[in-house]
Amino acid sequence: MLSLFARLPRIHRALIILFTVLIAIALALPDPASLRQEKSVYEVGKAYSLNINPANLSADKPSSPLAQLSWQKFTVGAGESAAIVFQRAGLSSRLLYQLTTSGKEIKDQLTKLRPGDILEFGFDAENQLVQIKRPMSSYQAYVITKVGDDYQGEMQSKDIDYQYNYAEASITSNFWNAAISAGLTANQIMELAGIFGWDIDFALDIREGDSFKILYQEKLVEGEVVDRGQIIAAIFTNQGDTFKAILDDKTGNYYDENGRAMKKAFLRSPLDFRRVTSNFNPTRRHPVTGKVRAHRGTDYAAPVGTPIWAAGDGIVQKSSYNQFNGNYVFIKHSNTYITKYLHLQRRMVKTGQRVKQGQTIGTLGGTGRVTGPHLHYEFLVNGVHKNARTVKLPQSKSLTGKAKQTFMANAEIRLKKLERYRELLAYN
Ligand SMILES: [Zn+2]
Repeated sequence: MLSLFARLPRIHRALIILFTVLIAIALALPDPASLRQEKSVYEVGKAYSLNINPANLSADKPSSPLAQLSWQKFTVGAGESAAIVFQRAGLSSRLLYQLTTSGKEIKDQLTKLRPGDILEFGFDAENQLVQIKRPMSSYQAYVITKVGDDYQGEMQSKDIDYQYNYAEASITSNFWNAAISAGLTANQIMELAGIFGWDIDFALDIREGDSFKILYQEKLVEGEVVDRGQIIAAIFTNQGDTFKAILDDKTGNYYDENGRAMKKAFLRSPLDFRRVTSNFNPTRRHPVTGKVRAHRGTDYAAPVGTPIWAAGDGIVQKSSYNQFNGNYVFIKHSNTYITKYLHLQRRMVKTGQRVKQGQTIGTLGGTGRVTGPHLHYEFLVNGVHKNARTVKLPQSKSLTGKAKQTFMANAEIRLKKLERYRELLAYN
């Protein structure tokens, strides 16, 4: 045995000795368990102090004084102000005044109330108001807290996570129904129509067989979907033409796969597609004169009062009335382009006024020589009438330089992601 030990390399021998010594020391030391036991031996019949600080007991102690408030919830009724809600809650107008004068943000939160909004009041054990909560969504609330004699307000938000989702549809009857069946919300449908509203006339040009695919964000709070986020990428096929749009994070705008802006100088239709009832086609034979006249515009039939939008930025060339056009507005967009809006019920702009694209310039009506209420819309290029639905519009702005490079890289990823989600969700 000893001779074997002696034959081992020097380093091994040194290690064996070292560990032997360490084990010997460990065995010689008292067992830690026996140490504890020794300390916990108390004499029978003798009183010992427990030495417990009640402040350190967690079971009965609230984590904060706010945790033991009792809450009362009030829904703002039609025509109700904060003063009325405070009254219903048994709170004084003096308190409301104190709150609204403690800061602009608090004032805005308490005075800009709408029917259906909720105010929650938190009272302490002495029935003193300590906190007010105004829920803004399932994950956000504006919270006013009493701090000393003062009030402090802040927006409190739960952590939001994002995930992607995908939807697609082929249109059989109309765009709205197809989008609803695909699971889109009303907001998303309007967002989608807004993205492609410069290329597609959603009022008149949607056909059976048109289709769309979208990749969009969902907001998650505590693992549950609470809201839809932005559309990240979308593809729309209209009468055989396919349009792609991808969100640019930097600007918040949409561009096509080549970095050209989706937003263009003119909207394809100067009114909300949801209001348009049909492709109105008034008889070419005039009901009064009996003559057949050339029709030089696009007619949109929609309920009287439907807002009419300026198709593009420009200056009102004429806002007037005559017996043929009824109330009419002409907008000059540049030396090249003029748009005309006829038979309005009401005009909301004046001659010479500057207007922005999408601005309401009047409402649809049946004034002038018409067979029924509709918007007659004309699009002139260098003084010549063109079909507003097919006319080639001025080229839109493109991204350039580094912004374009970044966008193009993201766009490729996002379009690929759209296709991957399509496969993942078994849309094939
Ligand atoms: Zn017409």
